[in-house]
Amino acid sequence: MIRSSYIAHLKEGEEVLAGFVHEKRDLGKLLFIILKDKTGEIQVVFKKNAVSEETFKTAKKVSRESFVKVQGEVKSSEKAPGGRELIAKSIEIINKAETPLPIEISGKVETNLDKRIDWRFLDMRRPEVMRIFNLESKFVKALEDFMHDEGFTRLFFSRITGEATEGGADYFPVLYFDKEAFLAQSPQLYKESVLLSGIDKVYDLGFVYRAEPHHTTRHLTEFMSFDVEFVTDEMKDALQLQEKLLNYAFNKAGIEVRIPKRFPVVSFEEAQEIAKSRGAELEKHDLTPEAERKLGEYALESYDSDFIFVIDFPFEKKPFYLMRKENEPDLTYSFDLLFKGLEITSGGLREHRYEKRVENIKAKGLDPEKFDHLRFFKYGMPPHAGFGLGIERVIEKALNLSNIREATLLPRDPERLKP
Ligand code: ATP
Ligand code: MG
Repeated sequence: MIRSSYIAHLKEGEEVLAGFVHEKRDLGKLLFIILKDKTGEIQVVFKKNAVSEETFKTAKKVSRESFVKVQGEVKSSEKAPGGRELIAKSIEIINKAETPLPIEISGKVETNLDKRIDWRFLDMRRPEVMRIFNLESKFVKALEDFMHDEGFTRLFFSRITGEATEGGADYFPVLYFDKEAFLAQSPQLYKESVLLSGIDKVYDLGFVYRAEPHHTTRHLTEFMSFDVEFVTDEMKDALQLQEKLLNYAFNKAGIEVRIPKRFPVVSFEEAQEIAKSRGAELEKHDLTPEAERKLGEYALESYDSDFIFVIDFPFEKKPFYLMRKENEPDLTYSFDLLFKGLEITSGGLREHRYEKRVENIKAKGLDPEKFDHLRFFKYGMPPHAGFGLGIERVIEKALNLSNIREATLLPRDPERLKP
């Protein structure tokens, strides 16, 4: 038996605990060890006269962060942190930690992020770091539960493709026998095409890859994309789905954010004006990161909301598969959702009509012949909408972290390929 209980669930009386030596205090005839496991900490007391000489010696020499098993009696104690302590009878060093530790994990000294990620799994021994990934796990579970309750089917689209999804340059080529292949940048064209089958609500959750050489606090080369597509002929259904989904998931995961039932919505044109009036530099056809931040401030001040939708983006900077507006073909039925001033989803109503889709591809200067998925659009494709949500960005913002890497277990960027 490795343990009779986790630390947080201890009862008074005889217990066996296993965990890491967080701290050690040697008072001569008394030795205190703060033992921790994933649920919490407890003070373990070794009294020289009450344990064997061997036990006392072992406890004295154990190094910080070693994995140990201790047996003893849990007693309430006013002086002990948490109001209880374990009076030890024996200790076994199951696996010692070398000294010195490669990074500081006592929480007393800051280690820089790069170094921390070099030692990610050791860094995770800090409760505030472990909390990030526990919350992510709960949040993702809640997203999935919601989708299933709404009648969505989870599908698993391949991440190896011979087709360059959005015509962009940011693909990772892979050696695929004697053929040219790429890591998928998104499951977009598959999640749309599958709607031809009659399944009318799908989602996919998995890594996607972007060969973006940026060094920013919001870009990874591999990120977890929550991708949704469903049959509808109105974009507002996609906005509403996101509102309900995020309300449910944040609530279920116990993450506190300012989240109204209905999110404020502004057009791209209005968004540009708001950002400009707040001093942001603008780009003609897209929101700059600074404009996104200003819109985040605006949403908070004007609507007490951490969220704001920007809709109707110019076709110029949006992908070909979006439907262009009937009377304003320079604009698209599209949206970005900003969370605390950062884009977390992009989506819109898609172009389901074969001829129009081909037109859009040509308008982007791309060759329709190169798009294998198009053939599916000739056989009764229903109208549809959808979006992609970046999990790491959501967690980063939800927990007010300052870099997407903090919210990513094993971040991949142009420099980093390990651990
Ligand atoms: P940005 O303009 O911020 O670079 P994008 O518009 O290129 O993002 P989309 O293709 O719209 O990104 O992807 C949908 C969602 O996936 C984004 O809203 C974001 O949450 C997430 N995402 C996109 N690129 C990255 C990336 N490199 N790293 C982490 N998350 C990303
Ligand atoms: Mg986008």
